[in-house]
Amino acid sequence: MKSTRRSLAVLILLAILSLTFRAQQRPPVETGTFRRPDLVEIIKLDPTIRLDIRYATKHNFVGRAVYKEARAFLQRPAAESLARVNAALKRQGYGLVVFDGYRPWAVTKIFWEITPADKKEFVADPSKGSRHNRGCAVDLTLYDIQTGKEVQMPSEYDEMTERSHINYQCATPEARRLRDLLRAAMEAEGFAVYEPEWWHYDYKDWREYPILNISFKEIGRTPRH
Ligand SMILES: [Zn+2]
Repeated sequence: MKSTRRSLAVLILLAILSLTFRAQQRPPVETGTFRRPDLVEIIKLDPTIRLDIRYATKHNFVGRAVYKEARAFLQRPAAESLARVNAALKRQGYGLVVFDGYRPWAVTKIFWEITPADKKEFVADPSKGSRHNRGCAVDLTLYDIQTGKEVQMPSEYDEMTERSHINYQCATPEARRLRDLLRAAMEAEGFAVYEPEWWHYDYKDWREYPILNISFKEIGRTPRH
């Protein structure tokens, strides 16, 4: 009985310690000057951009929803550029499907913690933050305007294999064509692909925005200063 009590006490102590440790986990402190964040909801700028927010469902590599709301935001200049990408693609019969945009820092931390060491190139280190945390990265694919369906790319979204690499050559010619079409359209508007992931693009001005950790609900409510 005594030892049960003792182990219970140890467990409680460990729980308190781990909570304290977690509470100290905050986004990295950055020095320098940044532009004032101005996150806008992508579909409010262009309602023909579609959303497939996997992180608001259990159909993602975490296996559970990490977002309460299926919404996507970017800093205004990035969102405006994305709307221009969508307009350019429309003339070729395609539209954009966004998987993710701005991502609160706490979610980046969850991704890092559950991802095995040999797959870490697919997730951002929370001690540095992600470009998604700055509202300057977007994960996306294409849909075919005629069929209304998402196109087949060389890999699935968030697939942690070589098929996801932007230069993977062993996909079907059609999948490679579509991947390269998306890349050309994005690069024309100031986005750069992250080479291990054909779906991930960084907006050119990402360095000018701070790492944020506000929820989707708080966006727009936060006083701007
Ligand atoms: Zn991404």
